[in-house]
Amino acid sequence: MWNENEPELFAEMAGRLSAAFADLPSSAAASLGADEIGVLRETAMRLGDNYPYFHPLYAGQMLKPPHPVARLAYALAMLINPNNHALDGGRASSEMEREAVAELAAMFGWSTHLGHLTGGGTMANLEALWVGGALKPDGLVLASEQAHYTHERLSGVLKLAFDSVPADAAGRMRMDALEDRLRRGGVGTVVATLGTTGFGAVDPLADIVELRDRYGFRLHVDAAYGGYFVLVGNLEAETRRHFDAVVEADSIVVDPHKHGLQPYGCGSVLFRDPSVGALYKHDSPYTYFTSDALHLGEITLECSRAGASAVALWATQRLMPLQAGGKFAGSLERCREAALALHDRLDGHARFVPLVRPELDIVTWAFLGVGEEEAGSAGRRLFEEAAARGLHLALVQVTGPMLKSCWPEGEVIPEGPVTCLRSVLMKPEHLDWMDRIWALLEELAG
Ligand SMILES: *Cc1c(COP(=O)(O)O)cnc(C)c1O
Repeated sequence: MWNENEPELFAEMAGRLSAAFADLPSSAAASLGADEIGVLRETAMRLGDNYPYFHPLYAGQMLKPPHPVARLAYALAMLINPNNHALDGGRASSEMEREAVAELAAMFGWSTHLGHLTGGGTMANLEALWVGGALKPDGLVLASEQAHYTHERLSGVLKLAFDSVPADAAGRMRMDALEDRLRRGGVGTVVATLGTTGFGAVDPLADIVELRDRYGFRLHVDAAYGGYFVLVGNLEAETRRHFDAVVEADSIVVDPHKHGLQPYGCGSVLFRDPSVGALYKHDSPYTYFTSDALHLGEITLECSRAGASAVALWATQRLMPLQAGGKFAGSLERCREAALALHDRLDGHARFVPLVRPELDIVTWAFLGVGEEEAGSAGRRLFEEAAARGLHLALVQVTGPMLKSCWPEGEVIPEGPVTCLRSVLMKPEHLDWMDRIWALLEELAG
């Protein structure tokens, strides 16, 4: 859950930080007393009521423990509690945000950009769609039916019309359907998802870029979950081709609090053309936004933002630079390896039906059940029995072409949606624990 020397390291760093303010007249408060300690004890007890997200046997939802360095850097920043709305509120942390965000942009191959951290992927997507709508007023927003559900809702907030594009059996946006819709005109922004939240499917971005050249829409890439996979060396060639096209996007969203080892409250939005900054403030000249004196508060929709998020991200990237072949990239490669290992084992089992082959690190599968048991309810039973044995999975309702394409011959395809199992293998340790995870699953399958 935590490293043994974390408290001691925190005490040391807090001492170093307070030394920077040593010439102020002392205002140190006394030690915390019985009341405070009592409340903290109660808090620790209450927090025990959680799934063990930090443990490799938690292999369910998209939850990844922050890196200890991120956690400590965040806690250290809390002694200052900077606000990255403006330089006044967070001098050092604003600078650290600019550096960390430039590294995110460089990860996608951009040497210039405009961007910043946000509270999360939803706020970041809101901002990207808002810019898209401002540049193409009355333009429709298009996203795949497998895109994050918030795109439709955010379009509603922005009063932009929204339409969804059907996905294929692998969960990717269908290019024929996209082009049909584009021919009818009126499209302002196309959202391509690099790594859908449900299945980790990668929309055919390289092909969407070609369509943009023909139809002239704005191309927004939602890589909230999948973005960091641009660094890894073990993608399928086709997936790699689409990740390589990300440099062509007009805007990108990536969530450091998903795969980037950060505490919650850390998303980011990046724009390829810094001049979109002019949209945020009508009386600002264009040049202001390419100058060095960037005031984050003037290029964000949100006002107050946690400077601590920037500090934690900066420290993490300092430790593990965002480089192909680096330590961080290697840890993502292990996640993907774990996903393939689980998929292949499921594939070899008579009662499990793996759905799409993982493009990133999400594995989904149906459980046919035992005897007369129906596939619809068997999945839920397995999920509950696994949890009782300490293995935490997630559920996903699956229907349509995805189900048909993988259902075994001789087994009746259920009419309605099937409750399937889903496992996001986002911890590199999942690979070391795969034998143990598999042994439990095999046992539960009877
Ligand atoms: C998680 C996710 C979002 C939403 O991000 P939050 O950080 O949860 O607000 C949007 N799009 C995709 C593809 C995601 O995976």
